[in-house]
Amino acid sequence: MTDVDVVVVGAGVTGLTVANRLHAAGRRVVVLEARDRVGGRLLTEDHEGVRLEVGGQWVSPDQTALLALLDELGLEMYSRYRAGESIYIGRDGVRRTFEGEKFPVSAGTAAEVERLVKEMDRLAAQMDPLEPWEHPDAEELDRISFAAWLAGQTDDPEARDNVGLYVGPAMLTKPAHSFSALSAVLMAASAGGFSHLVDADFILDRRVVGGLQRVPLALAARLPDGAVHLDEAVTKVEWTDGGATVLTGRGSYQGRHVVLAVPPTLVSRVQYVPALPPVQAQMRQHISFGLVIKLHVTYETPFWRELGLSGTAFSPYSLVHEAYDNTNEDVEGETRGTLVGFVSDVKADALLALDPETRKRRVLEALAAYYGEQALTPVHYYESPWMADEWTVGAFGTSFDIGSLTRYGRHLRSDVGPLAFASSDIAGLGFQHVDGAIRMGEAVAARILDQ
Ligand code: FAD
Repeated sequence: MTDVDVVVVGAGVTGLTVANRLHAAGRRVVVLEARDRVGGRLLTEDHEGVRLEVGGQWVSPDQTALLALLDELGLEMYSRYRAGESIYIGRDGVRRTFEGEKFPVSAGTAAEVERLVKEMDRLAAQMDPLEPWEHPDAEELDRISFAAWLAGQTDDPEARDNVGLYVGPAMLTKPAHSFSALSAVLMAASAGGFSHLVDADFILDRRVVGGLQRVPLALAARLPDGAVHLDEAVTKVEWTDGGATVLTGRGSYQGRHVVLAVPPTLVSRVQYVPALPPVQAQMRQHISFGLVIKLHVTYETPFWRELGLSGTAFSPYSLVHEAYDNTNEDVEGETRGTLVGFVSDVKADALLALDPETRKRRVLEALAAYYGEQALTPVHYYESPWMADEWTVGAFGTSFDIGSLTRYGRHLRSDVGPLAFASSDIAGLGFQHVDGAIRMGEAVAARILDQ
C-alpha cells in the first residue's frame, strides 16, 4: 500500500493542477489516471502527418487563470487565422458573406438578436457563476427550457435559432429544449457575458504553440518521478472521516485526502464504501455530457483564403453549425490548410447513425455549401471520438437537466469526509473550459492546505 498525503484521481488539467499546487507546498501526492496518457480532454496527436488538437484548443482573453498558467509554464500562443469575410447561411438557405461578428440577417432579425443578447447580458451580469442558484430569477429561469424562454421573448424564429446556437450546439452541445434558461445564463456568466459567446474572435482567440495538451504535459513533468500512475483506473474508494484507501486494478493507495478530479458523471462510476450521501448520488444522475463531433478536414492548401474568406462559417440550419480555419500556423513549412467544424446534439445523433463513408460525404457537402466545391476534396478527414471514449463519454462537458441546477447545484463542490470533487464541469468562471479546470484545481488545493 502506498501512503501519501493526497491521492488525486484523474490526470486532466484539474487533477494535475491540484497535484502541482500541493507538491509545491510540500505535500506527498500520487495521481492515478485511467488512460495511458495525461491530459484528459486535451489531446494533441499526429494523424497521418497532420497534427490535430482532438480536444480543447482555444484560449480567450477572459481566461485569466489559464493565461497565468501559460505564462508560468513559459508556453507561447498564436492567433487563429481570421482575415477576410465570414460566411452565414440563413433560414432561407441563402449563403451570405459578412465581416465582424453580426450575422447578415434582415434588419428586423438583427434588432431582435441584439435585444436578446442585451437581455442575456443583463441576466448574466446578475449572476455569480459560482452560485447560479443565487440569481434573483434562479427558480423561474431553471424551470423553463432555454428554447421555451427564447420563444417567450421573440416571435422571430431566425433570431431564436441564432441566439440558441451560441449556447445550445456551440457550448452545452445539447438541444436548447433540454437545458434550462438558468444553465444558459450560467454559460454566459462563466465566460464574462453573453456578448463574449457571440464573438468568435473573442471566445476562439488564440492557440498554444504545439497544442493545448502541452499544459497538462508540462504540469505532469513538474511532479516527482513516479507520482503519476497511468493505466490505473480507480474502481473503489473506502473512506472514513480520517482518510481513504483508493483501489485500482494494480494497487491500493492510502491518503489523508482524496480528490476526485474527474467529470461528475464519472464520479459515480467508482464504488464508495460507505456509499456517498444520498444527495451526492442523486445529484449526479441529473448531470449529463453533451454531444459534439469535432471535425478536422485538411486540404492541400487553405483555398478559402485565396477566395477572400476567413474560414469562419455559421449556420443554425447546416449540419456543421460552425467552422473555422484551424491551420497549424506554428508548424514551420506547413502549406496545407485545415478547417475545424462541429456537428452537435441531435444532428450528431443522426450523423453517428450513418456509416463512416456516408458521414464523411454529408460533412463535406455541408462544408461545400459554405466554401464551394473545393471543400469536397480534402487530403485528410478526422472525427474526434470523445463520445465513444469510456473516460469521457461525450463533449465538451457536462451540465444539469432542467430544474436541477437550483435543486442540487449547491452540493456540487461539497466535500464528503476526506473526499473532494473538482473538474472544469463544476467551475464558475471558466465553466466547461480549461480555465475552469485550473480554477477548480487551485481552489481544492488551497482548501486542503488550509486544513
Ligand atoms: P478531464 O480532462 O476530463 O480529466 C479527467 C481525467 O480523469 C481524465 O484523464 C480521465 O481519463 C480520468 N479519469 C476518469 N475516471 C477515472 C477513474 N475512475 N480513475 C482514474 N482516472 C479517471 N476547453 C477550452 O478551454 N477551450 C477549448 O477550445 C475547448 N474545446 C474542447 C473541445 C473538445 C472536443 C472537448 C472534448 C473539450 C473542449 N474543451 C475546451 C473543454 C476542456 O477540454 C475541458 O474542460 C478540460 O480539459 C477538462 O479538464 P478536467 O481535468 O476537469 O477533466
